[in-house]
Amino acid sequence: MLRSYQYTEKPYPEDTFQGRLFRDKQVEIARRFVEGHPVRRDMKGSCPLCGRSGEYFCSKWRVDYLCCPNCKSVFAVYEDSAVKEYQENPDLLELRTSEAYQGEISHNRQDTWDEFLEWVEVRAFRFMGRNRNLDIVDYGNRYEGYVERIRKSPICGGYALKGSILPQNGDVSRADMVLYLDRMQQEMQPDRRISELRGYLKERGLLILSTRAGSGFDIVTLKEKNSRIYPYEHILLPSVRGLVSFLEENGFEILEITTPGVMDVKYVLDSKDRLDDRENFVRYLLEESSQAMLQEFQRFLQKGCLSSFVCVIARKR
Ligand SMILES: [Zn+2]
Repeated sequence: MLRSYQYTEKPYPEDTFQGRLFRDKQVEIARRFVEGHPVRRDMKGSCPLCGRSGEYFCSKWRVDYLCCPNCKSVFAVYEDSAVKEYQENPDLLELRTSEAYQGEISHNRQDTWDEFLEWVEVRAFRFMGRNRNLDIVDYGNRYEGYVERIRKSPICGGYALKGSILPQNGDVSRADMVLYLDRMQQEMQPDRRISELRGYLKERGLLILSTRAGSGFDIVTLKEKNSRIYPYEHILLPSVRGLVSFLEENGFEILEITTPGVMDVKYVLDSKDRLDDRENFVRYLLEESSQAMLQEFQRFLQKGCLSSFVCVIARKR
């Protein structure tokens, strides 16, 4: 397995006013939903990746999150019916499928998407010996602009969109590559999903997976104060270690794993005043460090696979 590391030193992507508005709106819908439904508080839950009983991690809006003592993945305690209902929430779906929202996201993210697709293009050649006209299954993508980018990319031949809030689109009988990007955080049964995705792939086809990682710096440090992590939008935050074992046990060989996140330090810095009293070292680090040192620290997180955004390339065994 290649533990790769490419240092990405980009200016922090600033949210537009409209972008922030949409984010706040989604958080508000989620909060209203969670507060309007009974919450399961028995603290019983086993790690969706390795099966061990979880230990208390934090609570947000009265929803408890547990941390796996074995693989350090973080997961919420919930009623399945509540999460299902949340995922089908009409207010959320209406917002996320609206033209204004889709347009805003496309505008803000197209460079990030293009950069990611170039990264995939290089890896496809490295691991499959070809990177043109691949048959791709794209699972759970909810951005029209991203679908368009993928379809127009030279790597894409046949294309099928599945498991999305957007209309299902295209058909591929056996895929060279499955994209499963930023969806794992909402999986109630990740083992079932992974076996479904494996089923779409040809022998030795590639799975490209990205997710927020529960082992990342800002997740572990900020816990419930992390404004970007909330129930039931995030019910599973796999650790890097947990994710590796999980994929290996479910029929994949890990070819490359990287945490190219650039935002951990910035997220923690933004919430510096709300840090838990026990985070004295982190507070001191943030107060005493120059901009250059903080950049160096983010680089260290990327290098050590300790950032909270993880990308995996795995091959079907
Ligand atoms: Zn675990």
